[in-house]
Amino acid sequence: MTTHRTKMLIIGSGPAGYSAAIYGARAMMAPIMVQGLQPGGQLTITTDVENYPGFRDVIQGPWLMEEMKAQAEHVGTEVVWDTIVDIDLANGSPFRAVGDSGDEYIGDVVVIATGAQAKWLGVPGEMELGGKGVSACATCDGFFFRGKRVAVIGGGNTAVEEALYLTNHASHVTLIHRRDSLRAERILQDRLFAHPKISVLWNRVVESFEGDPAGAGLTHLVLADRATGAREDFATDGAFVAIGHAPATELFKGKLELDASGYIVVEPGTPKTAIPGVFAAGDVMDHTYRQAVTAAGTGCMAALDAERFLSGLSVDLHGHAEAAE
Ligand SMILES: Cc1cc2nc3c(=O)[nH]c(=O)nc-3n(C[C@H](O)[C@H](O)[C@H](O)COP(=O)(O)OP(=O)(O)OC[C@H]3O[C@@H](n4cnc5c(N)ncnc54)[C@H](O)[C@@H]3O)c2cc1C
Repeated sequence: MTTHRTKMLIIGSGPAGYSAAIYGARAMMAPIMVQGLQPGGQLTITTDVENYPGFRDVIQGPWLMEEMKAQAEHVGTEVVWDTIVDIDLANGSPFRAVGDSGDEYIGDVVVIATGAQAKWLGVPGEMELGGKGVSACATCDGFFFRGKRVAVIGGGNTAVEEALYLTNHASHVTLIHRRDSLRAERILQDRLFAHPKISVLWNRVVESFEGDPAGAGLTHLVLADRATGAREDFATDGAFVAIGHAPATELFKGKLELDASGYIVVEPGTPKTAIPGVFAAGDVMDHTYRQAVTAAGTGCMAALDAERFLSGLSVDLHGHAEAAE
């Protein structure tokens, strides 16, 4: 067993973690980042990224994350291949965490950047056609379906919001729901039903996503009617699975305040948790925006606040540094 000691322990290697690492290293905090089971985070499971600032041409998600890693290491971050399985936040700074390897990690501050995972249906073809017509993020991928026909699968607020958003790009949006009524808020439902580009298929479950991952991508869905059992092929250019997200916060249950959906609660407008020296950044504390650039932004904020915490400064809500009491 090895003990790794650092001023700044970062848990998670998505855009939030790498941004915190770059700022932390440049502030001489010599961060240690524990990568977790998905080095590079969610962007490593997508292909085209067209909305991360700084790149005129479409870039690839895995490439972007390799670049972030290289930059973080270049400025002095130690990136460790391990997963945190236990952490003690109750006894204040320095905080102790234990990795799956058995190694111990001690950090004066901790930045939690464990992200979230889109929930998937778990049916054949879904993973194979991911990024090839199947997506879980309309904001990220809607632009690629300009003038095309798309389907959204789900019946809650997320699904209705994604369907409404996609009308900005797609020629037609079909909402596919397994029940005969929606769970989404009334006002969202009203907008959905009134929209001329949206239709709803009720009582249908997706049995599989069909197409050629190496060629044209998604061509159709196989749907089953829950009432009659009948199967049908539903032709579509794109399919957005919108059945929610799960933040990776299992480790922090009972240790940090989580909201009803499991996201870490932070002081509004900051990455600060209720425990001094413990910060949360990225999708793990943001169920609204969930973008690489917003994750990177809150990662930066976490590192700046971490630096101020270590130097005995606090920050008021207007961003002015003040001496701590
Ligand atoms: C298919 C898809 C396409 C997308 N396309 C775009 C796009 O085009 N543009 C865009 O801006 N956004 C896109 N997004 C959203 C974007 O990927 C996320 O908003 C962003 O990755 C969130 O970054 P994060 O750093 O908060 O967390 P994540 O990227 O989720 O990374 C979390 C990290 O935490 C680690 N981790 C988890 N638990 C532990 C643990 N116990 N110990 C150590 N490490 C742990 C994981 O290994 C991972 O490295 C897409 C998302 C998906 C799923």
